[in-house]
Amino acid sequence: MPIDSMIDLRSDTVTKPSAEMRAKIAAAEVGDAVIDVDPTVHKLEELTAELLGTEAAIYMPSGSMTNQIAIRLHCRPGDEFLCEADCHVYNYEQAAFAQLSGLVAHCIQGVHGVLEPQQLIGKIRPDNDHMVRTQLVCLENTHNRGGGKVQPQEKVKEICRWAAEHGLRKHLDGARLWNAAAATGRPVRELAAPFDSVSVCFSKGLGAPVGSALAGSRDFIRDAKRARKLFGGGMRQAGIIAAGALYALEHNRDRLLEDHEHAKLLATAIDASPHVQLVDGVPDTNIVLFDVDPAWGTAAQFVATMEEQGVRAMAVSPERVRLVTHLDVDRQQIDRACETIRSVAEAARSTSALRVEIG
Ligand SMILES: *Cc1c(COP(=O)(O)O)cnc(C)c1O
Repeated sequence: MPIDSMIDLRSDTVTKPSAEMRAKIAAAEVGDAVIDVDPTVHKLEELTAELLGTEAAIYMPSGSMTNQIAIRLHCRPGDEFLCEADCHVYNYEQAAFAQLSGLVAHCIQGVHGVLEPQQLIGKIRPDNDHMVRTQLVCLENTHNRGGGKVQPQEKVKEICRWAAEHGLRKHLDGARLWNAAAATGRPVRELAAPFDSVSVCFSKGLGAPVGSALAGSRDFIRDAKRARKLFGGGMRQAGIIAAGALYALEHNRDRLLEDHEHAKLLATAIDASPHVQLVDGVPDTNIVLFDVDPAWGTAAQFVATMEEQGVRAMAVSPERVRLVTHLDVDRQQIDRACETIRSVAEAARSTSALRVEIG
């Protein structure tokens, strides 16, 4: 199967800049963003802050950097933050908070990434010489390992109210907050409001080639700029990539609902197929998780068989497969992907014994 006729559902990070986005990139006005100002980066930061309802925002190369800098700034070495056990910050960022900032994570297991406010009660360490200091709460919306789950906003507000009452700071990993806003019909600023800092990605569902932003108060973002330089994230004529992010922000937010519809179609196909089990029912947004019956084989084998038929997916555990919809996959390709899932799941009956043997 030639690579460009593949339907790539591994992640919403695989999108490529459209011709129109590339034209904006080519024409971008630039400056030296480290010495003083890059006008395109500045425009992107202003628009991001406006959408998120914060005083300021800062552009960075990745969401890992925006998260890790936020956590670092909210804490001091030897401090602890509370987070959900399956969150990105804990699982997928090499524990940079420990490696780079001397911090500890206290993980609390949620259900598909969602914590109940009562689960946090009693989790703040007493103030004595034996213990780390609890300083921060981190939430993730939508939740990646939770299958693109939208955090129920009432729970978010309750957790953040509790945190504020106890002197804790609140950070939101909103890599896919745009999806949460599209799915709920709530403005992003409303979803961001309970937090002291919010990280958002442009290179996921919005389809920009590079970058994330961290949003918060003016003072916080001034400190974030210092930390960005420390982490090696100062970028000079970054307007070249910021132009793609700006285009994405201006044009690709409303269409996210299309990706969510596509995810529902995939879920329906999975639901109707043997040997595969949808995780947590109808997806909230653009991520679909399903488990492969071990009698069929492993998730990796299922993914390899799909790939032979032109559809790429990601095995995220020995039995779990992840599909992510995005703007480079249209309705027709989704229909083809649905067919592929059905046929792979069904064809398994004849070969499953062999698969288990060689698995
Ligand atoms: C993708 C993602 C990030 C950031 O990832 P980078 O690859 O570092 O940009 C952060 N949080 C979540 C939930 C993500 O899905």
